[in-house]
Amino acid sequence: MSHLNNELLDKALKALSNYPLCDRCLGRLFAKYGLRLSNPERGRALKVLLAMSIHKGLGSGSDVLSKEDLVRIAENGGSPISDLVQHYVGPVNLRKCYICGSKLDALLSELTVKCLNLLKGREFKSLLIGVEKNSTYEEREREVVFTLSIDSWESIRREVKREVGKRLQLITGVEPGFKEPDVLLVLNLDTKEVRVRSSQIFLKGYYLKLGRNISQRWWYSKNGGLRYKASVEGVAEKLASVFSSDGILIHAAGREDSDARMLGSGRPLIIEVINPRKKSFELERVNEVLRDDWVKIKILTTTSSGELEEVKKARKPKVYRVVAYVPEGLEEEDLKRVENGLSNAVIFQRTPKRILKRKKDVLRKRAVHKLIARMLSKNLMELIVVCESGLYVKEVVTGDEGRTNPSVSSLLGKESLPVFLDVLEYVKD
Ligand SMILES: [Zn+2]
Repeated sequence: MSHLNNELLDKALKALSNYPLCDRCLGRLFAKYGLRLSNPERGRALKVLLAMSIHKGLGSGSDVLSKEDLVRIAENGGSPISDLVQHYVGPVNLRKCYICGSKLDALLSELTVKCLNLLKGREFKSLLIGVEKNSTYEEREREVVFTLSIDSWESIRREVKREVGKRLQLITGVEPGFKEPDVLLVLNLDTKEVRVRSSQIFLKGYYLKLGRNISQRWWYSKNGGLRYKASVEGVAEKLASVFSSDGILIHAAGREDSDARMLGSGRPLIIEVINPRKKSFELERVNEVLRDDWVKIKILTTTSSGELEEVKKARKPKVYRVVAYVPEGLEEEDLKRVENGLSNAVIFQRTPKRILKRKKDVLRKRAVHKLIARMLSKNLMELIVVCESGLYVKEVVTGDEGRTNPSVSSLLGKESLPVFLDVLEYVKD
């Protein structure tokens, strides 16, 4: 093979001797060289220079390329080398680009149109374009780069991202490339498919449950039916349509039993709106949509995904109100015994029997900071319990067959049953 006393041209000549390459794919192999040039401009320039060098060689009589070499390079490189060779040497059958099948320009246009269609009706101020890895284009590109020992190349994924991005920017006015974009577009070069996703919106607030038998999430029984007809999640779901979204997820700071009311200033909650096509909203409107007789959700502000774990992991004290039924009847001293035995007490608690199916059996220690007992009738007393997060309060009443100790039952030496339970307060800082 010849030498044109120019490293770049030698490499380009070697590339076209081995592979048919369109202007864009040849130019991409030399992307490191030249500023403010597009890859097609680079590729075209190299082919023009090659054609001129070959032309010069043809005239000088010092032919460094054989006839076969010339025809192969012309077939692989196309115009303007092919024009020259066809004129001086003989017929040339142009070949399709080895990397892209000479389809990359059309593919860029097609992907751009698909992106634009998917962006219709979506609100966004920033966008990010991704290209799925390991396409057949990319595999062939790697082979070419490896075979030719080229170190000045740019990947096809990067070129596609940039080129589609430039075209989208022209039309939408939005420059791609934000780390946390409103919209993410992911292109697949092989299937020519585009997936689009709007980044989530996180709405932060709190909820109250004014009624009983309301689960936090929808709770399905084994036969697929709903255990409870209402849920906090169900009320939050009303937001899905407000944002033209795919749905919502709720993230709360713990959970009370479905049959317990959640009162006071409520339990912290973050509603995650998934793939929201609409991004702009007014809090007032959001809270209006969430209005419900039994579940009160109030959104105060938006937040980021970073705060999710913080809210979910928060361990704050709670104030409970339990009404307990003592079938054998109560005496005044019973109340004192319960107050003294459970105020400032550490409760040893094995996982309650009622949830052993869902959670593994562990022993936990939780503090009751304060307990106040009040007789309501011969068989009923009201207990106000201020305790650490994570205490199973119903079991503090029953004793759960000895699994929770001490308990109201164990202190009284009489069976004691919770009639109902309220979370009076989730203690915030
Ligand atoms: Zn190509």
